[in-house]
Amino acid sequence: VTDLLLADATLASGERADVAIVRGSIEAIRPAGSATAAARRIELDGALLGPAFVDGHLHLDKCFTGVRWRPHRPAASLAERIALERELLHEADEELPRSARALALLRQIVAFGTGHVRSHVDIDPSSGLSNLHTVLELRERMRETIGIQIVAFPQGGILSAPGTADLLDASLREGADVVGGLDPATFDGDREGHLDVVFGLASRHGAPVDIHLHEAGLVGCATMRAIAERTVALGMQGHVAVSHAFALGCVDELALGRTLEALREAGIAVMTNGPGGEDSMPPVRRLRAAGIAVFAGSDNIRDAWLPYGNGDMLERAMLIGYLEGLYTDADLAVAYELATADAARVLRIDRYGLAPGMRADLVAIAAVSVAEAVATHPARTLTVHSGRVVAPLRDDPPAGDPG
Ligand SMILES: [Zn+2]
Repeated sequence: VTDLLLADATLASGERADVAIVRGSIEAIRPAGSATAAARRIELDGALLGPAFVDGHLHLDKCFTGVRWRPHRPAASLAERIALERELLHEADEELPRSARALALLRQIVAFGTGHVRSHVDIDPSSGLSNLHTVLELRERMRETIGIQIVAFPQGGILSAPGTADLLDASLREGADVVGGLDPATFDGDREGHLDVVFGLASRHGAPVDIHLHEAGLVGCATMRAIAERTVALGMQGHVAVSHAFALGCVDELALGRTLEALREAGIAVMTNGPGGEDSMPPVRRLRAAGIAVFAGSDNIRDAWLPYGNGDMLERAMLIGYLEGLYTDADLAVAYELATADAARVLRIDRYGLAPGMRADLVAIAAVSVAEAVATHPARTLTVHSGRVVAPLRDDPPAGDPG
């Protein structure tokens, strides 16, 4: 018996269809109007139905969601920013506990149709594993609503904050899935030393790697080639990602070509959030054409680093498309892929996609096509996770409502 029937959906192909869900999976996709008995039937009235969004990079432990607006405070350096963040987070903690703020953010992004996230979580000697414990509890609590992958992230560096390597090790034993890293050459000032720890942990725990890399120019390119070398040496092709990779957007053709070749050979994926200001975005189409997986993430959402963001992955796809100059329907579909199938592949989410046998993690969008959805990021009318309706819930405000 069909548990849930999503009737009269528009598929990415433009066809109208009924989607039948049984025990959390898509059982069948039939032409709209096919008679199917179901325990529950929801009329989509032609809304676009797609797989739930995948946010490949955010920070659940940093957000100011659910507390009063905090004016952005400038910082002169990365170290100053990190110190300022500690202060601002403690202030916000007094207004609302960190776990409640992260929960508010998760509920907000579920309403925007996100079904899976990769969250970096700060691990440092001053806070120990407390952020990890907060996010592990949330992951358990929200297990039936959203999938959460956890990166043990050394926000204060590894070598510059003695004790961090052991804490990262403990994080992986306690439930973190991925080893993080941060600007090995420019923050820790010891590219090889930093990567020794990151890849040592990855190989000991059999864990993938996702490194924040803000390093610009040739320094950033050299770090990417060092990451690629270690990835190949350990046979970790397809299990390593570089987040941001600003360097790829600001070097000459020779350096770009060499670095893309190294990334491709090592099967390294690149995450972008469509950065603005002084940060440069990697050339997305160029990377894809070179055979490199590119995926999208929100990164900072209303926190001490950035006042912007709400976690809407369609809006994120639009931002990346806007910066990259993606205008045709085919190009806009590329932006959509970055926040859906491409991100799902990097995060290795099993049975992802809108097809029979796949997980029923779905979102309905008030648009007639993928291109329109990306260009206008309209309202989400329904989010389903493992075959359960998770938004809107009866007491939810409409998606996008800041209240
Ligand atoms: Zn980040």
